[in-house]
Amino acid sequence: DEQLVIMDETAIRRALTRIAHEILEKNKGVDNCMLIGIRTRGIYLARRVAQRIHEIESVPVPVGELDITSYRDDRVKAPSVESVKTGEPLAIQDRKIILFDDVLYTGRTVRAAMDALIDQGRPQMIQLAVLIDRGHRELPIRPDYVGKNVPTSKMERIEVLLEEIDKKDKVALYAK
Ligand code: 5GP
Ligand code: MG
Repeated sequence: DEQLVIMDETAIRRALTRIAHEILEKNKGVDNCMLIGIRTRGIYLARRVAQRIHEIESVPVPVGELDITSYRDDRVKAPSVESVKTGEPLAIQDRKIILFDDVLYTGRTVRAAMDALIDQGRPQMIQLAVLIDRGHRELPIRPDYVGKNVPTSKMERIEVLLEEIDKKDKVALYAK
């Protein structure tokens, strides 16, 4: 398969540092904010950005995780947000939520995530951060924070590798 490297470790680090600054600027700090990572790789991105924010402002920001894999199709019971630190449920009522995912495509995953959140309470606000926006939206959803915009064809596939699970940081574009 043809592979085109889109972001290396340095580019990913810089993009996440920029997003940390953008979150602080847009929200005038992180009072009342909570970062929530969507299933696997969104969780690591949320953790990394929370760590950057801590380094920059010396304030902790809570990080939660959400697994919407089955909810996307079944819609039976909305999954709850769990603390990445303790595994305990996190209350999202009146919080400013910043959702994190690795790749934004049609928008259906983010829509399901928002439905799950709203099912559990009333967040004050929901914002969206993604490492890669590859286009092809099928819903009126746009990210507030973007690591990199990568125009793709529907035939292509973005590969996101993160140190925590993939042993290295890399984003590549594959022609399927
Ligand atoms: P959507 O729901 O917006 O169509 O797709 C976004 C979800 O599917 C994200 O959770 C993302 O992880 C995954 N996804 C969609 N397209 C790609 C892609 O090209 N590469 C990767 N790594 N994930 C994708
Ligand atoms: Mg995903």
